[in-house]
Amino acid sequence: MNDIVNAPTDFQQAYVFDMDGTIYLGDHLLPGAKRMIEELRQRGIPVRFLSNNPTKDPQQYVEKLERLGLPTDISDISNTVVTTTNWLKENHPDAKVFAIAEEPLKNSLRQAGIQLSEDPEEIDIVVSSYDRGFDYRKLQIAFDAIWFHKRAFLVQTNPDRFCPFPGGRGEPDCAAMTAAIEACTGTTCQVNFGKPSPVMLTAALAGLDVDVAHCVMVGDRLATDIQMALDTGMGSACVLTGEATADDIRALDAAHRPTWVLDRIDKLIPASAWTERGWTEND
Ligand SMILES: [Mg+2]
Repeated sequence: MNDIVNAPTDFQQAYVFDMDGTIYLGDHLLPGAKRMIEELRQRGIPVRFLSNNPTKDPQQYVEKLERLGLPTDISDISNTVVTTTNWLKENHPDAKVFAIAEEPLKNSLRQAGIQLSEDPEEIDIVVSSYDRGFDYRKLQIAFDAIWFHKRAFLVQTNPDRFCPFPGGRGEPDCAAMTAAIEACTGTTCQVNFGKPSPVMLTAALAGLDVDVAHCVMVGDRLATDIQMALDTGMGSACVLTGEATADDIRALDAAHRPTWVLDRIDKLIPASAWTERGWTEND
């Protein structure tokens, strides 16, 4: 693994973290995550968290991080519930929306004043998402709105194929719902609100006066976390504690490689600060 592992030697202006597979796996923080976040905060460096998962709202992430020993302000967390709601509010505030979604996203849309509908004759936009209540009835409504009535277009919360679980299992994610709708309607999804879409980065860095080129996106997935950084000119750090493996990185050409590859998340803290603090990998 040593042939590909390389860590930053300086602190960056801001750190944006994926959560699952990066900060924690299931209900456990990954080694070094807590002291790394605390070190950045002590230095006054902005820390933000991002998730593509639309089945939770930011308050649920606040509660989870708190439970794991990392109390975090709700304004430091953004996910596809936030980016999807904001995009609809800004671009299509009067649209009738069919949300193939779980309650957190539907609640957020309702609270933003977006009109939800299950009537194919009046639906303007079909939102596909990670919906564990997806069924034939919902597929029929999307099909009728897009194909039969030829009025609705399709957008999705996130492009993930599956959501990883500890122990190597997982659950089908939004890409499965989107593919089902695309397959029967012949349409193509128009907008994606999750990583690697830059709308996620804009949401994460909102309110910060920083130079994107000196910020870093930290994550475990090449196609989402790292791709978003490559597309936006941001630095990127891929941590090998989740989906991406050392072999995946070796298979990439130079243009698609992350800036840094970490075998543990606290390697984001430069070696000089490890020495200052007396940290070792066995702590
Ligand atoms: Mg992840």
